[in-house]
Amino acid sequence: MFKLESSENFTNNFQNLVSINDITLGLKFKNYYCEMTSKDFNKIIRDLCKEHAITIEKKRFKSPVGRSWVPDRHIKIPQLKGIIELMVALHEIGHIVKGNIEPKCVEEYQVELWAVMTAKKLNIDVEPYLRMSMAYVLRNIAECHNEGRINIDYLPEDIKKYVKLIEPNLSSWKGFSVHVYDSLEQVTIKKTKIVYYNKI
Ligand SMILES: [Zn+2]
Repeated sequence: MFKLESSENFTNNFQNLVSINDITLGLKFKNYYCEMTSKDFNKIIRDLCKEHAITIEKKRFKSPVGRSWVPDRHIKIPQLKGIIELMVALHEIGHIVKGNIEPKCVEEYQVELWAVMTAKKLNIDVEPYLRMSMAYVLRNIAECHNEGRINIDYLPEDIKKYVKLIEPNLSSWKGFSVHVYDSLEQVTIKKTKIVYYNKI
């Protein structure tokens, strides 16, 4: 249902294209071309919300952001202009379906995986979105890591595998404060050594 306009003139920033849980990471998002309309997207989201007994806030976000209220089974989503907005809406539904999980970065991973798998089931080509999804999960891991809420070595294997193409060595984060930036062109990981000062 989704096609890439051209895949010739993109350079991939990843060394190896490997398959992750049956999904192959690839192409730059800006090459994305989609023939579905926002009417189709709205139907997808309406049907899923009906299936999972979720209500949608009438007022929509103008930018691709969303919110969810798990106990109320209520979400606020963006205007569904394109695939990014659709994935944001699927992500918010995923929060209701999955419920609260600790630590937060594992919840965000589970929710993203649900959104991606649901889109795949709907025959939506999620491949160009994946890098963004992985960067998002990695950013959440970084936040939990920086706040000392997780031990990077004890993260579940499947979440490590999900971000592996962007960060194959999470253990190298130990002793560093980490920030993940995604520019649509490439993902940048910035590590800053944590310096401990003795109080005088
Ligand atoms: Zn989320």
